[in-house]
Amino acid sequence: MTTLQECRTRDAQDPLRSLRDHFSLPEGVIYLDGNSLGALPRATPARVAQVVQQEWGQDLITSWNKAGWVSLPQRLGNQFAPWIGAGPDQVVFTDTTSVNLYKVLSAAARVARADHPGRTQLVSERSNFPTDLYIAQSVCQEYGLELVLVEPEEIATRLTPQVAVLLLTHVNYRTGAMHDMAAVTAQAHAHGILCVWDLCHSAGAVPVHLLDANADYAVGCSYKYLNGGPGAPAFVWVHPRLADRPGATFAQPLSGWFGHAAPFAFTPDYQPAPGIARYLCGTQPIVSLSALQCGLDIFTAAEPLGGMAALRAKSLALTDLFIALVEEHCAGHGLELATPRDHAARGSQVCLTRGEGLGVQGVGSGAYAIVQALIARGVVGDFRKGDGGKHLDILRFGFTPLYVGFEDVWNAVQHLRQVLESGEWRKPEFNHLNAVT
Ligand SMILES: *Cc1c(COP(=O)(O)O)cnc(C)c1O
Repeated sequence: MTTLQECRTRDAQDPLRSLRDHFSLPEGVIYLDGNSLGALPRATPARVAQVVQQEWGQDLITSWNKAGWVSLPQRLGNQFAPWIGAGPDQVVFTDTTSVNLYKVLSAAARVARADHPGRTQLVSERSNFPTDLYIAQSVCQEYGLELVLVEPEEIATRLTPQVAVLLLTHVNYRTGAMHDMAAVTAQAHAHGILCVWDLCHSAGAVPVHLLDANADYAVGCSYKYLNGGPGAPAFVWVHPRLADRPGATFAQPLSGWFGHAAPFAFTPDYQPAPGIARYLCGTQPIVSLSALQCGLDIFTAAEPLGGMAALRAKSLALTDLFIALVEEHCAGHGLELATPRDHAARGSQVCLTRGEGLGVQGVGSGAYAIVQALIARGVVGDFRKGDGGKHLDILRFGFTPLYVGFEDVWNAVQHLRQVLESGEWRKPEFNHLNAVT
């Protein structure tokens, strides 16, 4: 049995404790939703004001050169590359995850068509994030592939010489379950299948080794664990053996001028830039990229404190503690753990499920209302709807080791216990569904 005092001691001994001061979190809030929208870095408002007032307002168009706007996607990519096990000049921050996924899936489909003509399938997980599946549907239509959706335990057996591309999200957004990237990639490559990894719930949250895992393509989000701000530009990585394949045939399909070999030559014909730069499309959102840099700078500050190994150790300690405290203090209220207990298979979040029929007057699960009641108490997690079948309603809690502490975990669980024991979640105001859950 863990006590509040023990949690406080762990905070006092936490080598990453000082990183919390890099964030501006509202008083009285325990923020367990950094896996959906990261918190505001303290440096961001001043940085954004400087870009707007000085670089834009005063220096105007000269800032493309003078302030280095033109290379910002590449510079941020190089700054962050080590955190996902990528090399220099292999990552750019640009566009959204959905758009980048369209680029890399299309590029993979083009390569597969050239190297293994006759392959007919793109395989993904049925419980993948919806936008990933929507984009995959469009790419399949365009390249004449069939989208085959499987359960996680079926993946190994569904990797056959029929398959052109495998698209997986490293850490599942609902359950927090994590794939073994190196093992799955090796299985896929044994059949000549290209692997596309979505790192939205892993970048900055768990160790990622793209080059060591020999992955082919990766995309990921920067407004979650990277704290770049709402709608911050996503990243894209392509293994150099694929990024540098010569010829426009293998370039990604959104052939805009920022991905051209010489954008300011203004030639009429498209010539892809070498390497990852061809994954840029149009003019970049400089204000958003500048805000993102403040988020990435906190990772740079985490390096001398132990880097990803320290972040991962703390993240697992936080999720272990949350699981143990929920089981100790909140038993008997219909909550079940959906996140793997095995560290090797767990991301940086914990999901609790609640079955149908446990809601007010037996309607729904009550999971949404419990989350709303917690938010009203300043404990911010989120709710993800079940599918009415195998996947139950979920209460989701993200643990960002940069700013969440052990006492936060203790307090969050006490609030959850009180919400459940008092029945306050049954109040009508917590049972009214908002547009964004
Ligand atoms: C958050 C998330 C996205 C978001 O895509 P956007 O284009 O930024 O809206 C995509 N895929 C996964 C797996 C995610 O978790």
